[in-house]
Amino acid sequence: MRLPLCLLLGLLCAGCETVPGTGRSQINFVSNSEVASMAAGEFAKMKKLPNDPRLAQVRRVGLSIVAAARKEDRAGVLPPAAQWQFAVIDDKSPNAFAMPGGKIGFNVGMFPYAPTDDDIAVILGHEVSHVLCQHSSERISQGLLVQMGAVAVDEATKNKSAQTRQAWMAGFGLGSQFGVLLPFSRSHESEADHLGLIFMARAGYNPEAAPAFWQRFSKAGGNKPAEFLSTHPADETRVRQLRQWMPEAKAQAPRQP
Ligand SMILES: [Zn+2]
Repeated sequence: MRLPLCLLLGLLCAGCETVPGTGRSQINFVSNSEVASMAAGEFAKMKKLPNDPRLAQVRRVGLSIVAAARKEDRAGVLPPAAQWQFAVIDDKSPNAFAMPGGKIGFNVGMFPYAPTDDDIAVILGHEVSHVLCQHSSERISQGLLVQMGAVAVDEATKNKSAQTRQAWMAGFGLGSQFGVLLPFSRSHESEADHLGLIFMARAGYNPEAAPAFWQRFSKAGGNKPAEFLSTHPADETRVRQLRQWMPEAKAQAPRQP
């Protein structure tokens, strides 16, 4: 049976307070606006390369992904295109991120693994889908719960002390500086992979680049696992699922003139 796409996407990520397709409910007691303001503070501190010629490429691909993703954003999580900020980050480790509130960063060290528009669309499609599904809020919530216990969590969300900072940073996937490399859960990764594949196809990029990127990147990790790989373990399940979703994604591609 083929479900209409809007229904399918709705099941996958209906604002994601619960994820009804799987019946998975989110522990989420951190608001998107709180997470966005914390993320903005971190983004501001990063060393950016405003004159890097690849910045225009990241912005162009990123904006087309955001436009495709916003059509599914019933919860109003993704800011309008004009509010998104893009940066090439002066960091040699291969990593990239999209933050709640509309901040996208691409480390200089990621470009060798993602030289084409299609490759960048794989990464940003996946990362923007994490934002759409509010996975950071959920990770921060889980991290605070583990660290503080349920009773202290209310205080912790109001008062972002050094003690709770670790949970916030790990939630953004920026934990390495604190020695916390928290992998996204399998369910988060599947949701972001599935939606990301559809968004990149809708935006006119080749979704075949997705399984190819993950296979190539996981092999390139070598004996020193990259931050992006540590937080996004690339395994056979990921590649197999991407191949399963491929026909659905290709059906979303814009018609050729
Ligand atoms: Zn991910």
